[in-house]
Amino acid sequence: MNFDQIVELEKHVLIPTYDRLPILAVRGEGCYLYDDRGKKYLDFLGGLAVNSLGYAHPEILAVMREESETLLHVSNLLYHRFQAPLAEKLARLSGLDRVFLANTGTEATEGAIKLARAYARKHHPSEPFERYEILAVENSFHGRTFGALSATWPEKYRKPFEPLVPGVKFVRLNDVAHLRESFSPRVAAVLLEVIQGEGGVVELQEGFLRAAEELCRANDALLVCDEIQCGLGRTGRFFAFQKFGLKPDVVLVAKPLAAGLPLAAILAREEAAQAFSPGMHGTTFGGGPLQCRVALKVLEILERPGFLARVREVGGHFRAQLEKLQRDLPVIRELRGEGLMQAAELAVPGKSVVRQALEAGFLMNCTQDNVLRFLPPLILERQHVDELVEALKPILAGASPGAATRG
Ligand code: PLP
Repeated sequence: MNFDQIVELEKHVLIPTYDRLPILAVRGEGCYLYDDRGKKYLDFLGGLAVNSLGYAHPEILAVMREESETLLHVSNLLYHRFQAPLAEKLARLSGLDRVFLANTGTEATEGAIKLARAYARKHHPSEPFERYEILAVENSFHGRTFGALSATWPEKYRKPFEPLVPGVKFVRLNDVAHLRESFSPRVAAVLLEVIQGEGGVVELQEGFLRAAEELCRANDALLVCDEIQCGLGRTGRFFAFQKFGLKPDVVLVAKPLAAGLPLAAILAREEAAQAFSPGMHGTTFGGGPLQCRVALKVLEILERPGFLARVREVGGHFRAQLEKLQRDLPVIRELRGEGLMQAAELAVPGKSVVRQALEAGFLMNCTQDNVLRFLPPLILERQHVDELVEALKPILAGASPGAATRG
């Protein structure tokens, strides 16, 4: 089937949940994605922060080939060789103690909310009130099933599905006074992204993070860091929370963990982890041998000397180049981000910029209507950054608030 036929067929057979870019992706290699016409795109979207090692990474392919011929799936009623070593590695890298393996980011959030409630019930059984509230942060995104959705800020995602899970309260972004006001002994957990991804690459300030940590400690609530988008090397550190030396009780990871295979993890401090006992939580596919073995290889590559330093270096170059661009182009209102999670907030809608960039052979995404978000593979090189910035110059010049924008 050709592109037009596929587009036409999708219109009739898929539940219409996605607004797609006009690309029929057929293969990828390194930082490049190729469409059905052989046109190549330098990928600054990275499968929405999934393809951290780019496409067709030879070491990942080798592991995948071998394991898929050995043991593709085995039930969680049995042992296999890769879950425990993966959990051990994730625990070591995060400073936490135990791991539950799930499939998607949403599912990890969902499990963390359950864990927080179970922990509260176990440790505070005799309180005269229910301790089940979750404090989330305005502008956050944590997923789309009921628990995770309840903690996700944009109304457009939540409204059509109400009533949602009760007990979620939103705290104003970086507003420490509001955080303190919102806190009470009813709070079971604070759930936050150290850098909000879907929200437009918005960093939580150190003072806000420290206050959240301190309030959680003082009230025996769990501090849950959702590192599904900003974690696993994206910012040039293994975890974004490490920049501030935070000590979360629970950390969530997903997207790039198994290089494109679905795998997520809830990492928890010992006492929090012990709130679950056999039967309280589970999943059929979570932590299968193929995903775990691939994830072990992903982490091994991220841990290699110099890998994360390169992410910081190329990320720093990226930011410096965007700053140069901003000096000439007032249409760039603000730059945000860390490492290879960068964003340029525009004074105009970003949709047409994304389309024009696509025509020029660059894949990126616009979130919040006017925020160009860059989540390239972590193997990106300086020269790729330069190519993008060069291509963006005329596009953004044409998108200036004064200039006519194409629809
Ligand atoms: N949490 C964050 C911070 C995310 O960015 C996302 C997805 O974009 C999710 C949770 C949900 O993950 P998934 O789409 O794998 O369910």
